Amino acid sequence: MSEPGPAGRLVIIPTPIGDPDDITLRALRMLRDVDELYAEDTRVTADLLRTLGIARSTRSCHDHNEEARADEILAHLHAGRSVGLVSDAGTPLISDPGFRVVARARAAGFTVDVLPGACALIAALVGSGLPTDQFAFGGFLPAGEAALRAQLATLAGFDGTLIFYESPRRLAETLRIIAAIWPERAVVVARNLTKAHEQWISGRASAALQQLGAETRGEVVLLVGRGETVTIDADARIRALLAEGIDARRVRDVVAAETGLPRREIYARVMALRA
Ligand code: SAM
Repeated sequence: MSEPGPAGRLVIIPTPIGDPDDITLRALRMLRDVDELYAEDTRVTADLLRTLGIARSTRSCHDHNEEARADEILAHLHAGRSVGLVSDAGTPLISDPGFRVVARARAAGFTVDVLPGACALIAALVGSGLPTDQFAFGGFLPAGEAALRAQLATLAGFDGTLIFYESPRRLAETLRIIAAIWPERAVVVARNLTKAHEQWISGRASAALQQLGAETRGEVVLLVGRGETVTIDADARIRALLAEGIDARRVRDVVAAETGLPRREIYARVMALRA
């Protein structure tokens, strides 16, 4: 028998960002037991519920109907019902709808239970190798070079790691602009986290661009280190790239771009380490 859901509570339920196994036991229980379930896209959530073997209906709550849905959700809470909120992937409210609903529920004095779970920006930060002591999340970067440069300029003085969600189609252009304005800063591209083709690219923006090649697919978190020089252990990088089976000239080009050391010097190290 399933447990009864909490009464008069709003429950924020995270869902996986790629690997379905990342659903938590508590999220599973709440998806099943809350009295009402609201989803960013009911078709996406229907697929998830099917995968999880949960048979139930959902109501939509997205950017275009959130005000009206907030009225409805508040009425459920006043009637003592529990209401769950999910988005298409990851943690609701993080570049996803739900802020207005939470604000209304809190203002009316209802309990808001936030279930911890998958969130692309946190996974990317934790795995990036960039400092985690202070960070700022800038959401999605704006489209268009002028707007993008203006946005980055406002963040230039921040003394910590910057994190953005970025469209894979705009990523190369964004890296080009970052390479121009912050050529020394460390950059990390975290693509398709928890999915089959997960990829991490690290180095200066110019080097990341080279490694990125023509790829324009996938889901991307872009991180930028604080304004200090990147210190890369050239020998360790060379060994790692050679171990991946990458050709010596390509290793030279990548490590030279990442470290700023002369290509001839790097090539000599590649030859020595390969031997
Ligand atoms: N609420 C989600 C979260 O908790 O991360 C984010 C939703 S936002 C609409 C979607 C963006 O998150 C994508 O465009 C991408 O930038 C990032 N994202 C989501 N899943 C990702 C993944 N598996 N790998 C890398 N980035 C991801």
